Amino acid sequence: MTQVHDQIRDRGIVRQHLARLAQRPQKTQGNANGESQTLLKAKARELFRERNAVLLAHFYTAPELQELADETGGCVADSLEMARFGARHDADTVVVCGVRFMGETAKILSPEKTVLMPDLEATCSLDLGCPVDEFSAFCDDHPDHTVVVYANTSAAVKARSDWVVTSGCALEIIEELAARDEKIIWAPDRFLGSYIQKQTGADMLLWDSACIVHEEFKAQGILDLKKVYPEAAVLVHPESPDAVVELADIVGSTSQLIKASASLNNPQFIVATDRGIFYKMQQAAGVEKLLLEAPTAGQGATCRSCASCPWMALNSLQGVIDALENGSGVVEVPEDIRVQAAKPLQRMLDFTA
Ligand code: SF4
Repeated sequence: MTQVHDQIRDRGIVRQHLARLAQRPQKTQGNANGESQTLLKAKARELFRERNAVLLAHFYTAPELQELADETGGCVADSLEMARFGARHDADTVVVCGVRFMGETAKILSPEKTVLMPDLEATCSLDLGCPVDEFSAFCDDHPDHTVVVYANTSAAVKARSDWVVTSGCALEIIEELAARDEKIIWAPDRFLGSYIQKQTGADMLLWDSACIVHEEFKAQGILDLKKVYPEAAVLVHPESPDAVVELADIVGSTSQLIKASASLNNPQFIVATDRGIFYKMQQAAGVEKLLLEAPTAGQGATCRSCASCPWMALNSLQGVIDALENGSGVVEVPEDIRVQAAKPLQRMLDFTA
C-alpha cells in the first residue's frame, strides 16, 4: 500500500473550508419569512411542476428533502442510483440535493438538462482531498496502472480515470479488474480502498484521503454499545476505519445497509454511517426496530457533529425553492472535461446495468 498524500495538509484544507462556511450568513438553513415546512413544501411542489423539474435527494439529506423527492416523483437514493435516475428521467431540470460531485455527475450524464443545487458550496472531504493536478501527476508516475476513482471526486479527476465506482459496485468492479491481472490506482478513500484490497487481493496503490464523517467512528464505542444491546446487528459503511469494518455484520453502501435492515431479524441496529440514513432505514426496518448511531469520539475531529456531514446539511427546502425560482446554483462542467469524465462513468453504468 502506498500513501501518497499528506493527510495533515488535507485536514487543513477541510478545516479551512468548514471555517469559511461557518462564517457565511446561514441563508440556506431556514426561511427568512418564517414560513412553515408545509408551506415551503407546497411552494416547492408547485415549482417542480412549473419547471418540469425533478428532485434527486441523497439518503444523507434532511428528512423533509427526502419526503419532497418522494412526493414529487423524484428519487431518494445513493449516488449510483441518483446518477442512473437523473440520466434516464425526461425532466428539463434536475435539482440535486447532495454534494457537488453528485450535481456534476448529473450534468456529465445529462448535458442537455439544467442541473441545479441548493448550495454549490456543498462539497466532500474526499473530493477536497484529491486535487486534480497532484492526482494526475501520480497517475503519470504509474502509467501501467488502471485508474479507478470513487464517485466522490471532481469531474476533472473523473476525466483522468479509467473507471468510476461507487461503494455499491466498487467490490465487483475491482474483482473484475483483478481477475484480468490489472494493477490499480485507487482514489481517494483509503479506508474503502483498504477494505476492497483485503476482499479482492487486488494489486492497488491507495490515495490517502478520508471521509470526515466515517473516519470518526470508533471500534471501542461499538463494542461498548454491543454490551448494552448484545442482539444488535452492526451495519457499517466501508468508508469507516478498518477496526470498525471488522466489527460489522454487514458492510455495504447506503442502499445495501438499508436493504440489510429490512431483511435482518435483529431488534436493534448499530449504524456506522451518516445519521441522515435513519429516515429511510426506519421505514425499511419497521418502526419497532431501534436504530442506534455508532459512537464517534468527536474530540479534535474536523466534523462538527460526527455522524452528520456538514456539507449534506447545506441542503434545505428554502435552497431548493431559491434554485427553482431564481435559477441559482447552476452546475457547470467544461465540455472537454465532461466528455472525458462521461466515459468512465458510462463504463460503470454499463457494468452495473
Ligand atoms: S459523508 Fe463523507 S463521503 Fe459523504 S459527502 Fe460527506 S464528507 Fe463526503
